[in-house]
Amino acid sequence: MPDYIPEPFRIKMVEPIKRLDRAQRESALKRAHYNLFNIRSDEVFIDLLTDSGTGAMSQAQWAAMLEGDEAYAGSRSYLHLKDVMEEIFGFEHFVPTHQGRAAENILTAIALKEGQFVPSNMHFDTTEGNIRARGGIPVNLVNQIAYDPQAETDFKGNMDLEALENFIQEKGIENIPFGMITITNNAGGGQPVSFENLKAVSKIYRSHKIPFIIDACRFAENSYFIKMREEGFADKSTLEIAQQIFKLADGATMSAKKDALVNIGGFLALNDSKWFDQVRNELILREGFITYGGLAGRDLDAIAVGLKEGLQEDYLEYRLGQTAYLGNLLSEMGVPIMQPPGAHAIYLDAAALLPHLSREELPGQSLSVALYREGGIRGIELGTVAFGVEDEESGETIYPKLEMVRLALPRRMYTQSHLDFVASILEKIKDNASDIRAMEITRAPKLMRHFTAQFGFQ
Ligand SMILES: *Cc1c(COP(=O)(O)O)cnc(C)c1O
Repeated sequence: MPDYIPEPFRIKMVEPIKRLDRAQRESALKRAHYNLFNIRSDEVFIDLLTDSGTGAMSQAQWAAMLEGDEAYAGSRSYLHLKDVMEEIFGFEHFVPTHQGRAAENILTAIALKEGQFVPSNMHFDTTEGNIRARGGIPVNLVNQIAYDPQAETDFKGNMDLEALENFIQEKGIENIPFGMITITNNAGGGQPVSFENLKAVSKIYRSHKIPFIIDACRFAENSYFIKMREEGFADKSTLEIAQQIFKLADGATMSAKKDALVNIGGFLALNDSKWFDQVRNELILREGFITYGGLAGRDLDAIAVGLKEGLQEDYLEYRLGQTAYLGNLLSEMGVPIMQPPGAHAIYLDAAALLPHLSREELPGQSLSVALYREGGIRGIELGTVAFGVEDEESGETIYPKLEMVRLALPRRMYTQSHLDFVASILEKIKDNASDIRAMEITRAPKLMRHFTAQFGFQ
């Protein structure tokens, strides 16, 4: 058995969970049209759907919330957050938003015109959706190794620098209003990006005067990977590493529901004052006044405390250790996963686990349904359903390179025995893999279809 790092906290409040019996799980699946987003949380035993906003807050965060200042303008809570924002991120301006995607919406509203391109290592689905919704074209330029689930390398989220340079030459800077990078690379397995790569990406964007915006959702986890794995960073604190990263950029979007350890919130930060004027207008129109941005004052306090807690190194050691523990356990059992384990999730290689299913038979969706049916465990398909697109002319599906099911670990939520249970269910599924049947989409919207699509068996 792999080692497990004990939690650097003890539990002061409990939320009961229970596992429905098999017949109840089966009927929940039918009612949900086999889309796990339609399953009620009470029907789930271990919920690994997402690490977004699902974590446990600390006593310090709850205490800070009680002191939240709900003034419409210029609240103390905003000023608390502003101090922390300056310390960690150091951008000239920022606004709170209710989620990461609200920051993306505002950024694309002010900066992106129809037909323009936004390169990144890999865009997350909401980023991709926001770019497309404005008529823009998201472009993924991650190193090719990211698409090989078995390839082990320290920084599998790195951008392909040559591809980025060539892309900019080919499309022209007038067609690229800003460039991005996602840390860690959620859509590609939660894999980190090295500091060296971030520095080189920054140099390329800046040499072309393209503003560099970091999707910073998991900046703390990425910073800890840099500390552990990259030469020259072992003696730096994760805070110092984060500060160095954001010096390379011109702005950031973030979902505070990830590394800020809160249940709701986000921000958009920028250096450019002209852009920021437009951001303010857009924010007031869509989200709220600039010192609260669609959140309660107390939420801002929770984010301010959470951003600092998320950088604590004993927490990060446990956090990354927990993911590695589950990943190593599964590997020992012969369950194929994306290697090496990322920070926030284990990505099951559904195509490799269910080789009897072709891509159009939706192995990712079939596996996520099997996990719920067998164990009451909820994961999410990140494969053909989430990222497949219909070719406009031929009507044929263009398949994404990876067919994954993500098991995301909420922060400070589940214990070692929960993870052992998940591994035991997966071992059972693996031993009976050929019983798992092909699925098909019976109904789907055009954008971000995995949230609302319906499914049946072929
Ligand atoms: C979660 C996430 C977002 C979107 O944030 P929301 O708060 O869910 O709107 C954007 N990018 C990445 C990498 C994410 O993980």
